Amino acid sequence: MNSVYIEITNVCNLHCSFCPCGTAAGNETAAINPSISANRTFMDSKLFDACIAGAQEIEATNVYFHVLGEPTLHPGFVHYIKKLEQTPLKLTLTTNGTTIERSGRQILASPAVRQVNFSTHAYAELPRETAERYLQNVLDFCQFALVERPDLYINLRLWNVGAKEASPWNSYMLKRIHETFGIEVTPGHFCSRHKSFNITSRLYLHEDTRFEWPGLDERTGKALQTRDESSSTNSTSSSTSSQTLCHPKDSIDRCDVEGSNSKIVVGTCRALDTHVAILHDGRVVACCLDHSGQITLGHISENSLSEILESPLAHNIRDGFAQHELRHPFCQNCTFCKRFSK
Ligand code: SF4
Ligand code: SF4
Repeated sequence: MNSVYIEITNVCNLHCSFCPCGTAAGNETAAINPSISANRTFMDSKLFDACIAGAQEIEATNVYFHVLGEPTLHPGFVHYIKKLEQTPLKLTLTTNGTTIERSGRQILASPAVRQVNFSTHAYAELPRETAERYLQNVLDFCQFALVERPDLYINLRLWNVGAKEASPWNSYMLKRIHETFGIEVTPGHFCSRHKSFNITSRLYLHEDTRFEWPGLDERTGKALQTRDESSSTNSTSSSTSSQTLCHPKDSIDRCDVEGSNSKIVVGTCRALDTHVAILHDGRVVACCLDHSGQITLGHISENSLSEILESPLAHNIRDGFAQHELRHPFCQNCTFCKRFSK
């Protein structure tokens, strides 16, 4: 196992339309799936200790501090980084960058931090003045990092290719990168196999299309519609849940997984092989997309991570992936595995 996603908080200060975290407050998604909006909280220190003990136990080398949420908002964020420094674990921090002005120094000072990913696509939905200020803070951080931490990998993510609000913001980003680093990044050759563009040293621009969060209505077991889906179901370019199943035509009748429907779908995923995730309340889930615990395998305060990964459900799902079977209905509604097979 390479990585453990530890959701140290599910609180965020932005409200991105494409994210279950951002859209949780008072919209239609929250109405359908109450667990998304309930229990906004911060992982306590005892739970965090259990998570990093578990990560070491399964010989993971890398941790993330998110599933949903903005990790730097956690009051113990710096303290948790310090705890990592007592272990061999390294942190890949994914942040929206809005707090980098105050948290940047501690991030750069910690040898436990190996990589920082900035979700700068989140700024495309903000008022321009606010977005420009956040981006400036991120670029300032990058300039400091290039001098003080040349070993640190930094990704400026624009995971919004093709989204309607993306074009003006992305053009502005490229302009500011050029002005700041004197490098003209021309991501004109963006494609599924060419997403990362070097700016300088270990600083990269990383482009991608938006991914769809897999989701199931907890009451009906049916796939949730995203906001985009519900507003464009007649568009030929839209992707409805049924259209985005991995190889839906390859469905075959079989019931293998506790709580599953009567079908499995052909497909595979590296979850439970290369990574696993732990939610803010200690529930262990199969992957970093399962923000609402649809595939809850256990609880980190009740069992060790290695015990949980040996549970019958975990085995069944993992065996399914090995045999190219998406056995769990949540996986059958997931397009993320498809993203990596392109
Ligand atoms: S900044 Fe990240 S966690 Fe917060 S709402 Fe946007 S995508 Fe979600
Ligand atoms: S198929 Fe999708 S939902 Fe299932 S474990 Fe993999 S990434 Fe998660």
